[in-house]
Amino acid sequence: MLTRRQIPFFNYPALFAPDEQELMALMRDVLSRGAYILQKDLKEFEAALAKYLNVKHAFGMADGTNAIVLALRAANVGPGDEVIVPSHTFIASVYPIKSLGATPVLVECGDDHLIDPKAVEAAITKRTKVILPVHLNGRTCNMAAIQDIATRHGLQIVEDAAQGLGSTFRGRHAGTFGLAGTFSFYPAKSLGCFGDGGALVTNDDQVAEKMEMWRDHGRNKDGVVADWGTNCRLDNLQAAVLSYKLKKFDAAVARRREIAGLYDRRLRKVEGLMLPPGPDAHPDHYDVFQNYEMQAVRRDELRAYLEQYGVRTLLQWGGRAVHQFDKLGFNVNLPKTTLMTSRFIMLPMNTSLSDEDVSYICDVIEQFHAKA
Ligand SMILES: *Cc1c(COP(=O)(O)O)cnc(C)c1O
Repeated sequence: MLTRRQIPFFNYPALFAPDEQELMALMRDVLSRGAYILQKDLKEFEAALAKYLNVKHAFGMADGTNAIVLALRAANVGPGDEVIVPSHTFIASVYPIKSLGATPVLVECGDDHLIDPKAVEAAITKRTKVILPVHLNGRTCNMAAIQDIATRHGLQIVEDAAQGLGSTFRGRHAGTFGLAGTFSFYPAKSLGCFGDGGALVTNDDQVAEKMEMWRDHGRNKDGVVADWGTNCRLDNLQAAVLSYKLKKFDAAVARRREIAGLYDRRLRKVEGLMLPPGPDAHPDHYDVFQNYEMQAVRRDELRAYLEQYGVRTLLQWGGRAVHQFDKLGFNVNLPKTTLMTSRFIMLPMNTSLSDEDVSYICDVIEQFHAKA
């Protein structure tokens, strides 16, 4: 008989409570300086992020979605162009394509839940301009395969790394392979701020020059409007919070990988479950487990059973891939993604979980499958 625990999917107050004193002190410092927009705390965060990712330029952005819009604009995406993107992603990966008047081409994902390079190659037409891989769940896509395709077809790569901060492929960070890469600091992301926030990184000096202007109403260093731009600035206060949290990020990632290892060891052999690659499954990949998304054949029953035992799970994006939102008018058949979407379930994955919590979740899952 299991002793019932209450395990939320995500513990929002825990973003603040454990470090309350330090966070209040740093926020008081920023506020009392009157430093709200484009101040030194933002510059410092951008420098720290660029260093962490080993990339030339980093820009704080208002959020991850609008960072993608600007990245695609830098790739000259416009009407008549096609951008290839996985259907198993947040709508925020796809809206930016539409917003520029271009056509999103949705493709299948592979067994690791990430865009399938074979599907990318098959979807290329004369109109294809950009491949937009999404480093989902804290795992970097197979960028060797995607770079090879892009090179052979003369395409640009723009990376949605909103869920991929800190993950690497062959030692290189998610977000740093293409023309530009974008991140999100939405609270539930592995590096979360206290509201909306995002970033764009690039190794391209010309793209960097554009971002400096485009995120600040098209103004250049002299404050003169030199191009059309928007307001896509990361608040200085959020930047200060993010600098603080970035210092502790490696420890947070280590804990996520530990939890993933616990899930992997306990659940790998459970019949009816298909787990994501484990933390040490392949030397090319260093995964940070933004999410722990697995497939379960009897997903809905398992979910209800866990709920009964106090364990909250989540279906990413309400349990639908982008092509399954009828109102958006996609008329595309993606059988693999459709099947996988009916099986995807995310277990709690965050640094507030104790080993006992994880063990309890595994007990409940084992018990569910044993009684069947
Ligand atoms: C969170 C997320 C975004 C968007 O980020 P926001 O900061 O919320 O705009 C984009 N793509 C993916 C895959 C995400 O998970």
